[in-house]
Amino acid sequence: MAATDDALDEDLVRMPAGEVHAWYRGQNGTVCGLSLHRSRLRTFPGLVWADVQPASGGMADHVQAVCPRCRAGVEGRTSKRRGWTRESPRP
Ligand SMILES: [Zn+2]
Repeated sequence: MAATDDALDEDLVRMPAGEVHAWYRGQNGTVCGLSLHRSRLRTFPGLVWADVQPASGGMADHVQAVCPRCRAGVEGRTSKRRGWTRESPRP
C-alpha cells in the first residue's frame, strides 16, 4: 500500500496517513496510475488493502481518504478472484 503521508503510533510503528492508494511491491506506480516518486507517496510493503480501510482496517487510524480509483481496481479484482496479491504480472 502507499499513502500521501505517514504517522507513528504509540509503539513507533509507521502507519499510513492522509490518502491511501493501492500499491504492490516491485511496482513504481499505484493501481490508479500515480507515480510513487512524482506524487511523493510513502510505501507500506507489509500492509494489504484491508489493513488501511478506515471502516475495518487495523492500520487505518490516520487514514483520511481512500483513493476511489484504487478501490475500484482492487475490489473489482478481489471479487473475481480471491488471491488478489498478484506478485509479478506478466509483461
Ligand atoms: Zn489511487
